[in-house]
Amino acid sequence: MTSFEDVISKAKSVAEVAGKKTSDFIEVTRLKIEAAELEKEMSSVLEGLGRLVYDARKAGEDVSPMVDDCVTRLNEYQLKIDALRKKIDAYRYTVRCKDCGAPNPDDAAFCKKCGAKVDL
Ligand SMILES: [Zn+2]
Repeated sequence: MTSFEDVISKAKSVAEVAGKKTSDFIEVTRLKIEAAELEKEMSSVLEGLGRLVYDARKAGEDVSPMVDDCVTRLNEYQLKIDALRKKIDAYRYTVRCKDCGAPNPDDAAFCKKCGAKVDL
């Protein structure tokens, strides 16, 4: 027989899962926005770098130290973007296969490692 408490605790755990999904979604969205902003900054540094090299070549100037600075900054942006992408991936791969334990995307129907059916 289902008691009132059972119904309440079931409703509670469903709400907790839904709450976790929502906060994950918000966090992933936040990370994606952060990555997109870094990519935008990266493109503007790249654009500036192109203009700098072009103008310098045209004027016969040596701007190697400035080019090095730009490359260092671009590498830093790339590392940050890679770290953000890894974090985003970690949120996506949240369902563990009950047969082999491999992490799978939360929308997967079958395990990408062993092919077993993935149930949520
Ligand atoms: Zn598996």
